[in-house]
Amino acid sequence: MLETNCTFCKKEFTIGPSDSQYYRIRRKPDSRYVCKKCNQSMQQEAQNSTGLKPEDIDKYDAFFR
Ligand SMILES: [Zn+2]
Repeated sequence: MLETNCTFCKKEFTIGPSDSQYYRIRRKPDSRYVCKKCNQSMQQEAQNSTGLKPEDIDKYDAFFR
């Protein structure tokens, strides 16, 4: 398990291997974490501004690699 802070809401989260961002952060501890809630609202926002469906938006994760 890892402790990290969400880039957006600055809250602290403990994430495990079930989180898709876990391995990236473990590999690169200073990389950004976006919690599920912020991830969801980002996807919602992108959906609203681009008209994409959620399934078209793969993972926001990709932006932070
Ligand atoms: Zn957050």
